[in-house]
Amino acid sequence: RIVYVNGEYLAEAEARISIFDRGFLMADGVYEVTSVLDGKLIDFDGHAKRLQRSMDELDMRAPVTTEELLDIHRELVRKNEITEGMIYLQVTRGSAGDRDFAFPDPETTEPTIVLFTQAKPGLADNPAAKKGIRVIGIEDIRWGRRDIKTVQLLYPSMGKMMAKKAGADDAWMIEDGFVTEGTSNNAYIVKGDTIITRALSNDILHGITRAAVLRFAREAQMKVEERSFTIDEAKEADEAFVTSASTFVMPVVEIDGQTIGEGVPGKVAPRLREIYLEESRKAAV
Ligand code: PLP
Repeated sequence: RIVYVNGEYLAEAEARISIFDRGFLMADGVYEVTSVLDGKLIDFDGHAKRLQRSMDELDMRAPVTTEELLDIHRELVRKNEITEGMIYLQVTRGSAGDRDFAFPDPETTEPTIVLFTQAKPGLADNPAAKKGIRVIGIEDIRWGRRDIKTVQLLYPSMGKMMAKKAGADDAWMIEDGFVTEGTSNNAYIVKGDTIITRALSNDILHGITRAAVLRFAREAQMKVEERSFTIDEAKEADEAFVTSASTFVMPVVEIDGQTIGEGVPGKVAPRLREIYLEESRKAAV
């Protein structure tokens, strides 16, 4: 696999990053995951804008322009012959040489940028979308700036492991009784013909897929309510689902062992998945 590191395309075994990089020492970095369908990028603009916002919120300097970023994404897709899959992008603050809690001078420190591809044939035709996934509720003990897409992913990883141990696929995180989001996706329920998902704030990541799905839902005259819901309300819902760049729209058919609806994907989530895939493919770059 060919990867991109600080201006160079290299074989992955040739790629090198300093051990003093603050991404490695302090999780001082941000990332994006963009999916590829038909060899094209899904919602590149959305991901590029959120990356800029994450960097701005952390006073991090952008290593490349958005145009350069698009070129790098496309070049990696080409070099690795990706038809369906993902591109992972990470920008870290780099390092001034030593370990220090204070940020190094941005004028004299180069940020580190890394991109690599992950081929996932069958991403759009994921059989899990036909069956739906099972989730468990766990406490949300993450920090208070979940709107910044940082590489501090230890708790979401632990959440996935808790789910695995419980025989489930993923976890929904709960704060003060209300669901915040999934470990790596935004969470939704459907009641009657209304789609309900938590409103944007610093409590959740502002999902790029979320923005697109809500736009498509409204365009299709579906009702959308952006408000918090409890895990108990979710268990009584007609449908539940999650969204993310790598799973698109994924039905949830069980929460804490309790069946949602008929225990199979309902009407709304599969329809949204279909609309999302169709519209995103059309707009892909
Ligand atoms: N919420 C969290 C915590 C995530 O990690 C992710 C994606 O990685 C999402 C939501 C979904 O965001 P997006 O649709 O931009 O992939």
